[in-house]
Amino acid sequence: MSEKRKYKKRYCKYCEAKVDFMDYKEVASLRFSLSERYKIMPRRLTGNCKRHQDMITVVIKRARAAALVPYTVSRKQVVTAPFENLR
Ligand SMILES: [Zn+2]
Repeated sequence: MSEKRKYKKRYCKYCEAKVDFMDYKEVASLRFSLSERYKIMPRRLTGNCKRHQDMITVVIKRARAAALVPYTVSRKQVVTAPFENLR
């Protein structure tokens, strides 16, 4: 009956990496928190802590305004993982 959880272990990846400051130009570090449609992942799915989630939302919104991250993706361009094609 229980649904399989997509994200099993919940811990803050940014705390683990000891991130104190995030730069909106470092797009690679944002990809943990973007869904396949480049939406910001909610904290309940990623397990990020409040402090880092707040940083991420600010940084992603800045990156969007600077056109480093798309606001939306059309249905045909959906990728399994954001920035996969850039690596
Ligand atoms: Zn954290």
